[in-house]
Amino acid sequence: MDRFDILIVGSGHGGAQCAVALRQAGFAGTLAVIGEDPELPYERPPLSKDYLKGEKSFERILIRAPAFWEERAVTMLAGRRVVAVDPAAKTVTDAAGATIGYGALVWSAGGSARRLACSGHDLAGVHAIRTRRDVDQLLAELPTTQRIVVIGGGYIGLEAAAALIKADKQVVVLEAMDRVLARVAGEPLSRFYEAEHRAHGVEIRTGALVECLEEQDGRVCGVRLSGGEVLPADMVIVGIGIVPEVAPLLDAGAAGGNGVRVDAQCRTSLPDVYAIGDCALHVNAYADGAEIRLESVQNANDQANMVAKLLTGQAAHYDAVPWFWSNQYDLKLQTVGLSIGHDATVLRGDLSARSFSVIYLKQGRVIALDCVNAMRDYVQGKRLVAERMMVDPAVLADPATVLKEL
Ligand code: NAP
Repeated sequence: MDRFDILIVGSGHGGAQCAVALRQAGFAGTLAVIGEDPELPYERPPLSKDYLKGEKSFERILIRAPAFWEERAVTMLAGRRVVAVDPAAKTVTDAAGATIGYGALVWSAGGSARRLACSGHDLAGVHAIRTRRDVDQLLAELPTTQRIVVIGGGYIGLEAAAALIKADKQVVVLEAMDRVLARVAGEPLSRFYEAEHRAHGVEIRTGALVECLEEQDGRVCGVRLSGGEVLPADMVIVGIGIVPEVAPLLDAGAAGGNGVRVDAQCRTSLPDVYAIGDCALHVNAYADGAEIRLESVQNANDQANMVAKLLTGQAAHYDAVPWFWSNQYDLKLQTVGLSIGHDATVLRGDLSARSFSVIYLKQGRVIALDCVNAMRDYVQGKRLVAERMMVDPAVLADPATVLKEL
């Protein structure tokens, strides 16, 4: 049986960064990353952006060149899915039945693309955008595809729509809620993005409930809505969120549910088992102390760095300010903080100039900013969020106000 002093499960951003940070911190023990994905660690954000548009090769989205892992003595166990954890024996088992021992386990398995609850999800022509394989399969079909229905108006759905309309496809986005980006942004931002997509030729339908996918010869040919209407489709892209990959930990007795519960040091309730990234259910100061999962590269990297510090004997706890970004067309959206629970919004800048920020307040305090082509607000607004500063909304709205001087 193989055994590693530290075994990292998951080769996404969190897993890769944890390995990098451990070696940077001088960790000299044996170290392995085991992941279901057959590839070496690569960046996920380009999958729905530059990689989908064919503007970046796979080699350019690798997190590190292949030689890096060898030089740092990081064993890459790619294409292996961990299905069980035995916290008493300190082993994991993969889908092929192989057992690997660990001294400490860092669970960074992220999540898998949520599946449609209705029939048709497994038809040919139905795609997720979560892995390189997903996107390569989608790209292979693109030359013979004209009509694309995107289910889900979150980041995946909208970024994919922006990329595919540029490729001269016909694109319809179906969002179940009454506005796009409802889970992550306030209404002014949702409406702005809906208008931008429509101006680029994307049909956006909100409040759209999918009844089932229609089939012809084993391939998807349409999307039936709850009212009975059928939208013809050569391809369907499903971007309706993720399901955290935590079953082996929960089966082993770890506390959790929608994710695996961790403390401020990303420790699970199992001995010597940490969890980081999309699947880590943690109390977040920027969510008013609510227990949340943060699905972002920033969170994966910051939690990875923190766990690497702990495992090399340094003190650390997690309190990073959350941030996100999304590129659609020529719009660069940068978000700092979490707008969950806001009770007021302030618009700063000019929507028609396509450069503005939406500032979110809760009981008068700044809790988040969504900045569209407004890099300065994003950079300077971070401190307002970190300090939960109380500022007069009229002052925030005034473009003459320099945020860093508040
Ligand atoms: P998401 O942000 O959860 O958005 C999915 C959207 O689809 C939600 O608005 C959801 O509404 C809606 N939806 C759910 N079921 C539906 C249905 N049956 N029909 C129509 N709409 C439905 O998830 P995502 O866009 O799939 O992204 C997946 C992950 O990748 C997330 O972690 C996301 O943050 C990450 N990602 C991030 C970026 C970025 O930061 N730029 C880019 C791409 C992906 P409900 O809320 O009602 O379920």
